[in-house]
Amino acid sequence: MSTLQTLESGSRHDLRVGKSPDAPDESLFKDETEGAFGYCHSYETSSRYDGPGVRVVLFTSGCLLRCVYCHNPDTWHLKDGIYVSAQQVLDRLAGFAPAIRDLGGGLTISGGEPMVQMAFTKRIFAGAKKMGLHTAIETSGFMGDRVDESYLSVVDLFLLDIKSSNPDTYRKVTARDLAPTLRFAERLASIGKPVWVRFTLVPGWTDDPANVEGIAKFVAPMKNVEWVEVQPFHQMGAFKWKAMNIEYKCADTAAPTSELKNRVIEQFRAAGCNAR
Ligand code: SF4
Repeated sequence: MSTLQTLESGSRHDLRVGKSPDAPDESLFKDETEGAFGYCHSYETSSRYDGPGVRVVLFTSGCLLRCVYCHNPDTWHLKDGIYVSAQQVLDRLAGFAPAIRDLGGGLTISGGEPMVQMAFTKRIFAGAKKMGLHTAIETSGFMGDRVDESYLSVVDLFLLDIKSSNPDTYRKVTARDLAPTLRFAERLASIGKPVWVRFTLVPGWTDDPANVEGIAKFVAPMKNVEWVEVQPFHQMGAFKWKAMNIEYKCADTAAPTSELKNRVIEQFRAAGCNAR
C-alpha cells in the first residue's frame, strides 16, 4: 500500500525516482480505487507544446513501452511516481482553470502512458470537463483496445504518438507491437475524434524515408487528423538514463538537422497531411 503524498509541480525534465517503492508493477496494475488515487511524476502549468493554447500538463507514471529514445524513463514505473488523490489534482487544477480557459488552453495528461491508470485519468478528465476545460491526452495508443466510450467522451483531443509504420522498426524502437496503435488510430478516425499525430524523429532509428512514408500514407486519408507534429529527438533526458543505470542506446545519437526535419515535414505534406 503506497503512502499518500503531495504532488509537486515542476518539469517533465526533473528526475523523480523511488517515490512509491511499494507500488505494483505497471504491467500488473489493477486499480482497486476506481481512480480515486494514482501515481504521478509531476505537472507543468504553462505548456504551449501539448495541445491548443496554454495548458496544464499532468505527467502520470507507468508505461508499457520501452522506447530507446525515451526522454523520461523515470515515468516508466509506478514505483517511481508520487501517490496522490485525484481530488488533490483537481483542486490544483481548479486554481489554474480560469486563466487557462481565458488563454484558450486546457488540461493535457501525458506520461508515461496515461492509459496505464485508466480510471484515474478518466476521473481527472471528467473533473476538468466539469470546469469547462478542453482536455487532451498524449498516448502511444498501445492500450487503446481498453478504452471505452465513457473514456472517449471526456477527451477532446488525442495526441497520438505513431513511432513507426513498420512493425519491425516499431518493435526495435519500443519493444512492443505496432498493431494496437494503428487499430486505435483507425477507431478514432471512424468516430471523427480530433487527433494530432506525433512522430519523434530520431536519426538512425525512425528517419528512414520509407518509414516516414508509411505513416504519412496511413494518416493522410484520416479527416480527423488535424496535425502531424514532427518532434525532433533531443538529449535532455540522457542524464536520467545514466542516473537510473539503464543502457541508453541513443547515447551517441545526434539531434536531427533542420534539413532532415524539413525533409520529413515535406514528406508528410506531400502525402496530404497538415504537418509542422
Ligand atoms: S511511450 Fe513515451 S513514456 Fe513510454 S517509453 Fe515511449 S517515449 Fe517513454
